Amino acid sequence: MGCEISPSTVRTLRQGLKKHDTCLKCNRKARVLLPYGPQKFCEKHFVELIEKRFRKTVRRYSLIKPAEKLIVAVSGGKDSLTALYLTKKFFGESNRITALLIDEGIRGYRDKALKLASKNCDEWNIPYKVVKFKDEFGLTMGSIYKKIKRAKVNLGSPCAFCGTLRRTVMNRYAKRLHADKLITGHNLDDELQSILMNACDNDLARFLRCGPVSGIKSFKQFVQRIKPLCEIPENEIMLYADYVGIEYHSGYCCPFRGEAKRNAYRRLIDSLEEQYPGTKFSLWNFYMQIKPLLLKSKAFDGFALNECKRCGEPSTAELCDTCRKLALLRKL
Ligand code: SF4
Ligand code: ZN
Repeated sequence: MGCEISPSTVRTLRQGLKKHDTCLKCNRKARVLLPYGPQKFCEKHFVELIEKRFRKTVRRYSLIKPAEKLIVAVSGGKDSLTALYLTKKFFGESNRITALLIDEGIRGYRDKALKLASKNCDEWNIPYKVVKFKDEFGLTMGSIYKKIKRAKVNLGSPCAFCGTLRRTVMNRYAKRLHADKLITGHNLDDELQSILMNACDNDLARFLRCGPVSGIKSFKQFVQRIKPLCEIPENEIMLYADYVGIEYHSGYCCPFRGEAKRNAYRRLIDSLEEQYPGTKFSLWNFYMQIKPLLLKSKAFDGFALNECKRCGEPSTAELCDTCRKLALLRKL
């Protein structure tokens, strides 16, 4: 996360359209070409397609049940705002929804995005809560970045710190706000990058945490994280958001993003999709077939979740990842 894809990626959804091409569903002029079909749609039927996919994912994996309290983690980008918009549109009557706006403290970037996020929440009549890294951990991503850069040893990418701390904040506030489910805006591309990255890192536990429902085990301290956009490609979400008029933060990237390892996986997967349209969905379907088999097999013998000794959040070790990372940063 942390950066919008380039608008040229959305342009690829229009490339190859001929002047007289019509929509698959009606006779209107086609505006979108999905190369993996290939299928062509007018604006109205493309919007319908995305909404249908969102609802299908929710139904297929039983992500949302009536009357559940839903917290939607919102960064101000197209994905999280689209997740919020669609959740409100289809579950606003049956469920209570609150948006959680997380401010990591990335000056000139997240502050602008969160302004837009809160503006949308007001317009859509959705209550929201802003949580700052600074208040939770006494550090901002700006200060963490400086510490990482100054360190004599390689501490890894800022994104690893940012992601870990953000997950802790999400779970902490989902519990405080008595949520049954926590919704994130992860799209198909995000999931595939994680799947491939964890496979290449030979990290089976993390590999198995991908998919529409985060995590392997349910644990009383852990609010289930669900990803209703996980079967929609990123560029299609961007186009959908443009068509329905969602105002989201775009145009420039998080200043710390350049070092994210997932960028390499993003490029790899995009280039495969370009050469062999449909690769993304094939990889996803393959993952969803092997995940239940691996969970049952001896290859994965599970792991026990405990409460972190310091903060009480779920952890596989004595101290959770966040507490370990914070301890490391404090030593610097
Ligand atoms: Fe995203 Fe990395 Fe920036 Fe955090 S530091 S917002 S994970 S790009
Ligand atoms: Zn902890």
